[in-house]
Amino acid sequence: MNQMSKSDISLKTVNLGYKYRLYPTDHQKQLLSHQMFVYNQSYNICLNLWKKESEKNRNLEKEEKKYRKATSYDTVVKRALSLRKISFKTVVTQQARINFLNAVKKAFSKEVVAERQKALDKAQTPKEIAKALKLGFPKFQSSKEPHQSFTWNNQGYSILDSTDKFKILQIMSKKIRFRSHRELPSNHKMCSIVISKDSNKYYVSFNIEFQKEIGLVISKGNLDITKSIGVDLNIENFAVSNPITLLMKNIAEVKDDHLILNGSRNRRGLKYAKAVKVLERKQSRRVLKIIKSKSKLGKNHRKTQNKINKLNKSLSNQKQDLYHKISTALTREFELIAVEDLKLKNQMTKSAKGNEIVHGKKVKQKSGLNRSLLSASFYQFVSMIQYKQTMLNDKLFVKVNPAYTSQECSECGNRDKANRPQQDKFKCTKCHHQTNPDFQASCTIKKRGLEKVA
Ligand SMILES: [Zn+2]
Repeated sequence: MNQMSKSDISLKTVNLGYKYRLYPTDHQKQLLSHQMFVYNQSYNICLNLWKKESEKNRNLEKEEKKYRKATSYDTVVKRALSLRKISFKTVVTQQARINFLNAVKKAFSKEVVAERQKALDKAQTPKEIAKALKLGFPKFQSSKEPHQSFTWNNQGYSILDSTDKFKILQIMSKKIRFRSHRELPSNHKMCSIVISKDSNKYYVSFNIEFQKEIGLVISKGNLDITKSIGVDLNIENFAVSNPITLLMKNIAEVKDDHLILNGSRNRRGLKYAKAVKVLERKQSRRVLKIIKSKSKLGKNHRKTQNKINKLNKSLSNQKQDLYHKISTALTREFELIAVEDLKLKNQMTKSAKGNEIVHGKKVKQKSGLNRSLLSASFYQFVSMIQYKQTMLNDKLFVKVNPAYTSQECSECGNRDKANRPQQDKFKCTKCHHQTNPDFQASCTIKKRGLEKVA
């Protein structure tokens, strides 16, 4: 057995994005928005070229297929933009091409090809088949979407000190202020810079690489079992198998010492969600009217849409912030974290749903939408834990099979539907162990996690 001492220090290469809020002047905003437009245009030109190339190659033998070189993409993009008298920075057009070719490469990766094939196997209508065929391929970038961005490389920029709270990003001969809420690691290497816009807010992300000192390398040989935890993800809470510590109590509201409220039902979250609902209803009524009268979407429509986007953004920011805090606290304290495999769980809930009686189509669509939004944020939370546990640290992280976690007794292993007489009650029919069902599930998840590691 590998008996590594816990005081060993090792170095680990870590890739991370550090994101800051930018405060450009009106003039700088115009400049940045223009480069976002240039980025989209360059990307779309590349996509068109690639589509033509694929069309030509389609029926050719493998040796006869011809592929355009990266420099050739650049030449065509620059010529097209110049012809249209659009001013551009070469760095931006080149980065658009790099990102585009990476997206193509990803579209042919093993995972994405497998996913596409799966979608194709399931597809039945021509519409579904067309959608499945397109899965994972790069899409045209629209400059009308609320989220816009462009990528810059690791040259031709500098970061200057300003006041306590602010620093200055010097780029394209402009000095743009950003709020520096945390320092970049001192030994970092810049990989690329992304400048983005969401509705009316601007951000800069520094994608960096650095060497991180890791004091504690956890393997199954030196794992302290008391420092392992199971986490069960629920609509209202994250249930944990170990009592919640003071650290966690300072971060989130907790209930019964084992349930971390995840913010979806707190006052602020509910208020936002309600406001979004009201606005969306208003908006759909307006759209119906417009379709009937055959007029165009006007200023008010756009205003309301901006409001909706803003609310949704602050809702997701708030959630993300909380998830970051919770995942950091968990990683700090625990050597092994076990969660349910969400992919398997999704498949399970989908097949269960097929047997349910559906009252009215709209209800079904809506609940499906809510669930997918929810699981999207669960995926985000799980990937945060995974990243912090395995990349930022050298600790253990496992995904376990979620089947029957809510019906299995973690004390005696008895699996029985009757263990769950009510939604909010768990009582084992065999050993009479009685507890909160979410907490019970988290204990089973921990148990399975430990089994998987051993
Ligand atoms: Zn039992």
